[in-house]
Amino acid sequence: MAEKLFGTNGVRGVVNEDMTADLALQVGKAMGRYMRGQVVIATDTRVSAEMIRSAVSAGLMAVGCKVLDLGVIPTPALQYFVKTHDYVSGGVMITASHNPPQFNGIKCIASDGTEMHKYGEEKIEALYRQVIPANPWNTIGSIEKVIGAADSYINAVISNVDSNEIRHAGLKVVLDCANGAACRTTPLLLQKLGVVAITLNADPQGEFPGHPSEPTEDNLQDLMTLTKFVKADLGIAHDGDADRTVFVSQKGKYISGDKSLALISKNELSEKKGGVIVTPVSSSSMVEDVVKEAGGTVIYTAVGSPIVARKMMEVKAIFGGEENGGLIFPEHQFCRDGAMTIAKMLECVVKYGPLHKQVDALPVYYVNKRKVPCPDDKKETLLAMMKALYNENKIDATDGLKIFFDDGWILARPSGTEPIFRIFSESKDENVAIERGQKFEDIASGFINA
Ligand code: MG
Repeated sequence: MAEKLFGTNGVRGVVNEDMTADLALQVGKAMGRYMRGQVVIATDTRVSAEMIRSAVSAGLMAVGCKVLDLGVIPTPALQYFVKTHDYVSGGVMITASHNPPQFNGIKCIASDGTEMHKYGEEKIEALYRQVIPANPWNTIGSIEKVIGAADSYINAVISNVDSNEIRHAGLKVVLDCANGAACRTTPLLLQKLGVVAITLNADPQGEFPGHPSEPTEDNLQDLMTLTKFVKADLGIAHDGDADRTVFVSQKGKYISGDKSLALISKNELSEKKGGVIVTPVSSSSMVEDVVKEAGGTVIYTAVGSPIVARKMMEVKAIFGGEENGGLIFPEHQFCRDGAMTIAKMLECVVKYGPLHKQVDALPVYYVNKRKVPCPDDKKETLLAMMKALYNENKIDATDGLKIFFDDGWILARPSGTEPIFRIFSESKDENVAIERGQKFEDIASGFINA
């Protein structure tokens, strides 16, 4: 395992290389010492799920915790359980989200159901580095299997939408679960909402065959073809732990996450007038155009779903999310929620008509994304140099550097985990987006290679 235990997505690594049973045991003991009391655990469908869950659970019990095992369920279903059970002091999710099957990870959930704050992670990491004494034999913890977490999660999701309207609409969808944790909840959600579902990759057998579990356009070709072929109202896809959802239109077109964010924002603003929507600086200006037109305000944050969720709590936002399809509904819970995203999108289709027509009405922007290899020690100087070069322009330094032009913007962001520098260039004019992206790539590589 790298020097640092917690990355941007909890603890993650290749099984039996970085992510070993020994590491999981020690992480379990550290988390148990920090959280104490009753701790909930769940997994996605990876082959290593049982090994990592057993080791973490043993660690939790060794330091006296009572473990409540929810089995295989999506990350937001575990988070909802933690949030709604006051006697639970925290949660542990065994997942590597969209990463390939050889990976697994351990994600820590705070007692309010949100992703663990940095402070908590640092405390757990400090404990992890120490020898953690186990309890005497007669004060060790226990483990109990809990059933029904999937049902209560899905019932809560349904209570937040106009379920009667959806039931009466006679919708048909194609659902791609990526053979992940969604297999346990999303078919149930659709059934309860009276939606006919044709499933793809809905077999939770652990190896993610079918396609890689990152819900990108390239990985969802089967879903796109089938949605069009069977004339479904929607195609729906999740990542491995079902905190994210992306959609495919009736015509088989992939709908990027920021388009879902814009369409659902519009729907939310129709009921909660003048509300605030929170999204990272990397999201398309298309979202802001739609939100402004619907009478709302956008507040931007740094990239990362816990940051978006915490800002939403702070400013009492009505909705928020990321361009990768991770959307957050505060009336339900302050974390990305794949099932809630589906329920709300179904509501949008019932209220406003076919998805492709809604998408066609959105403002069109082009984004050009680039990665430049950049040693860590040059990142700060490169940012400072870009800032100096464009000091006449409007600049937003929330995360990296966002430089505004009359016809678009550039976002230059050093990666926090890899020796690369990311450049996003957006404009309503595709050529401008590409040319400006190239210009900034040239500036960056010129500096790095000088
Ligand atoms: Mg995920």
